[in-house]
Amino acid sequence: MGGLLSSVLLAKEGKKVLLLEQHRIPGGYCTSYKRKGFIFNVPSVMNNIVDGELYETLKNLGLFDEIEWVELENFAKYVYPDVEIVMPANDLEGCQENFNRAFPSEKAAINRAFSDMARLQKDIFSSQQTGRSIKEMISFVTTVPKLLLLSRKSFYDYMRKFTGNERLIELLSCLWGFTGLPSKSISALLILMMSGECYGKPTYFPKGGYQEISDFFARKFLDFGGEIEYKTRVSKILIKDKKAEGVETAAGETFHADAVVSNADTRKTFIDFVGREHLPRKLALKVDTHTPSESGISLHIGTNLDFSQFDLNYGSIFYHESWEDSNIFFDKAIRNKLDLEKDKIMYGIQASSVLSERLAPKGMNTLHILLFPIRHGYKNNFNVIDGKRGEEYRSVKDELSDLLIRKAEKIIPGLSGSIVVKEMSTPYTFERYTGATNGAWYDGVTSINQSFQKPSCKTPIRNLYLTGTKALGGGGMPPALRGGIDTAETILKK
Ligand SMILES: Cc1cc2nc3c(=O)[nH]c(=O)nc-3n(C[C@H](O)[C@H](O)[C@H](O)COP(=O)(O)OP(=O)(O)OC[C@H]3O[C@@H](n4cnc5c(N)ncnc54)[C@H](O)[C@@H]3O)c2cc1C
Repeated sequence: MGGLLSSVLLAKEGKKVLLLEQHRIPGGYCTSYKRKGFIFNVPSVMNNIVDGELYETLKNLGLFDEIEWVELENFAKYVYPDVEIVMPANDLEGCQENFNRAFPSEKAAINRAFSDMARLQKDIFSSQQTGRSIKEMISFVTTVPKLLLLSRKSFYDYMRKFTGNERLIELLSCLWGFTGLPSKSISALLILMMSGECYGKPTYFPKGGYQEISDFFARKFLDFGGEIEYKTRVSKILIKDKKAEGVETAAGETFHADAVVSNADTRKTFIDFVGREHLPRKLALKVDTHTPSESGISLHIGTNLDFSQFDLNYGSIFYHESWEDSNIFFDKAIRNKLDLEKDKIMYGIQASSVLSERLAPKGMNTLHILLFPIRHGYKNNFNVIDGKRGEEYRSVKDELSDLLIRKAEKIIPGLSGSIVVKEMSTPYTFERYTGATNGAWYDGVTSINQSFQKPSCKTPIRNLYLTGTKALGGGGMPPALRGGIDTAETILKK
């Protein structure tokens, strides 16, 4: 969606823009699809789109008039064996109170952590309202010594200052699935910023599903005179005299341009499309040490079960079968050592038809189950043989979907006998539909080393720009949109 938004903004200013998209529809990960009358979404919720430059841009384009939104009452619920905590949306104090209620002996630590979060919110988010550009807002973070220190510390180490209660730290870092790394690897600043956004800002959900947002941008782009070619995969960025001068597609067609913008993942852009021989030494080193994020599996279910009898009215439910440290879980998962039958796991669920009844036929419901991380290499590469996804691949998918359904049935009794349709996505599915290497969910990992590294859509190669989450870093739709704005602004200022 970052590529779409930058294209819209450039076309709006009269630039001649051609958008090449490998898929047959726009939007990348910001998408939904239909099966038997159900609409299934890839993302769950959208936070922090009502501030500053991002809000003004989206509002001016008409996004809030043309798309029907629901503002959620509860951002999330965290479920552990003996603790359940509800996170009300747009209510930092309410979230703090609920943590205090669950851990009364840790009140002081919780209050200090939340007051840090509130201070951060004031520093960073209020700066969005005072007209700072998105780039200024992000670089601001790295100029304040306290924030810079937090960016270089893990969330776990940061929390240990306040408390030795491992369970509390686990719970306070529960959002790690949204950023891709657990508490010991992720920058404290990132979790604090994200918590501020998720707890202290409104949470939105497009009533008709996420594809409506991407279709909206594509429509605006065409209205402003842009051109889109779908099913057109770029395979090369043409470089001459250290300058990008166009692209070549997999079908061998070439297009020349004054500026080339890539929303493909960072490694693909530089290594596959530009080619190592054209990379300045410093950039080559950076790309070589760039760690991509992980992928996962996602199961969409259409059911004829009545969900009004269950407590499912949340943006997301983070379900933990045990108190196992998520760092241990993550490590096991990425080494493909997770035994999904025997091990206790953590997964996310969303009943999106409870948030918007437009997503399921009358009297029916949709359920989305997410398990992260699961690598491309799981079960002998999902039994994909010579790149072919045959019967063996389908049998791994069936095994996984049966397993997730059995797990979810503990929360939603009767689920297995009520299924009208189900669709399982694996890292291969994500890779196929977005081009992301190994189906990575968030481009680069948000580790301490990789976060807040002076992000920019500019590259050392003249006329080549990045966009979306690849421009400014981080995962999520708002960062992707901010990347789109930054790219358009940078090219227009040239
Ligand atoms: C399961 C899941 C759940 C998520 N949940 C949330 C959530 O609840 N909230 C949230 O904010 N974010 C969520 N995210 C993350 C969010 O969806 C993404 O970070 C964001 O949409 C990424 O946008 P982007 O513009 O950076 O790039 P992408 O979505 O990766 O788009 C890249 C585009 O480039 C195209 N492309 C790539 N290579 C080529 C090529 N060679 N030639 C032509 N076209 C190419 C792709 O087809 C795609 O259209 C989730 C992601 C996943 C996978």
